[in-house]
Amino acid sequence: MGVLLRGGAIVLRDTLIEADVLIEDGKIRKVGKSIDSGYSKTVDLRGKLIMPGAVDPHLHGREPGLEYKDDFLHTSKAALLGGVTTVLEMPNTIPPVDSPSKLLDKKSILSSKSYVDFGLYAVLYDYADDPGLLDSRIVELVESGALAFKAFMAQTTGNLPPPSFMTIHRALELSKKLGYTVVFHAEDRSCVEFFTFRARKEGKGGLRGYSEARPPLCEELSIGYIVSIAEATNGRAYIAHLSTASALGVISKHKKASAGIYVEVTPTYLFFDYDKHESLGALVKVNPPIRDYKNRVRLWAALARGLIDVVASDHAPHAEHEKKGDFWEAAAGVASVQHLLPLMLTSALDGFIPLGKVVELCSENPAKIFGLYPTKGSLLPGADADIVAVDPAAEFVVEKESLAYKNKLSPYTGWKLRGRIDKVFLRGELVVDGGNIVVERPTGKALR
Ligand SMILES: [Zn+2]
Repeated sequence: MGVLLRGGAIVLRDTLIEADVLIEDGKIRKVGKSIDSGYSKTVDLRGKLIMPGAVDPHLHGREPGLEYKDDFLHTSKAALLGGVTTVLEMPNTIPPVDSPSKLLDKKSILSSKSYVDFGLYAVLYDYADDPGLLDSRIVELVESGALAFKAFMAQTTGNLPPPSFMTIHRALELSKKLGYTVVFHAEDRSCVEFFTFRARKEGKGGLRGYSEARPPLCEELSIGYIVSIAEATNGRAYIAHLSTASALGVISKHKKASAGIYVEVTPTYLFFDYDKHESLGALVKVNPPIRDYKNRVRLWAALARGLIDVVASDHAPHAEHEKKGDFWEAAAGVASVQHLLPLMLTSALDGFIPLGKVVELCSENPAKIFGLYPTKGSLLPGADADIVAVDPAAEFVVEKESLAYKNKLSPYTGWKLRGRIDKVFLRGELVVDGGNIVVERPTGKALR
């Protein structure tokens, strides 16, 4: 017994085509015009946009250890309501995921709580004093199911030590052979320390002051270093949350010469700048910081020109009290997974980018980069039937009560968005209908 999705407009790279989608055993069986079948269950999707569920490769779910910020039930519900059907969960929880046993523990905790399919990151520590341990640890972690590694080049939530040159070089050398990607938080640590000291001494503050404390130079230095090693090793390196448009020059140069250099931006950098949004204060404090308006325009232009591979949420929730008080002490990170796709759809429906670009940036490319394609991120026959139906005519206002996060904090509260997520199918099962979750318990699975 299958399910036939009738008459939706499928979002392709350059066009929309009206077609039916036949689902069997949780997989897409067929996509085509007027599929005739004796199947009893038909869902009428006329007037809706149909696209693969978003794949968000950059999510901080906060569990285990930081549940007061958010837990995986809330985080994954928010993802699902936002049309994200697959997430890759970052390793800087407590304890950090740095061994197979911790990875398996985390997998079992999240397995009972996740409304979306999920993969896990492991952290790339510094192994300068034991290269042999580095090799065996990477192999063990990949065998235990780590889909990617995260390297924090500057301090962030969890305050993990940055990896040495040897560690990065070796991890990238092995990445192609073992089929993983190393994701970098690219800010140079000593650069950040120096400029933060100076900005605070000079009494700077707010979003503009914070950008001076962690200036574009720190990001450019770190990115240049990483992509040079990636090119030399022919490794798979992914620059997370690019904030500085001027760093795209060095990325593009090395990208041309190597097989696997990728770059991500997040909605925070695309929708906020300190020229126009200073009044939001710590609500949009992130690392690296948001920049000026001109930079934000350049990021959009780069995205439209194909210089950006992925738009991911970098969903990083905090408790309300952590976002208040002294700006310098406030936590960095924005909860955003629920609106990643609606924000990008709004930009497309407003005519800034093609709809097909949204599918490319939010589904196809992340699935390809992290080895999940075409099972995830596509509507090809044989793919998991992770499907989102969007009402292109509906507008909605982001209300505080509509936030699925434990802490109802979002810089998008009050924003009017277009393209409401109407239905979501996860491996063929209708899990969101009319914008509400309609399953009684979580049905997400761990990815291998
Ligand atoms: Zn992050």
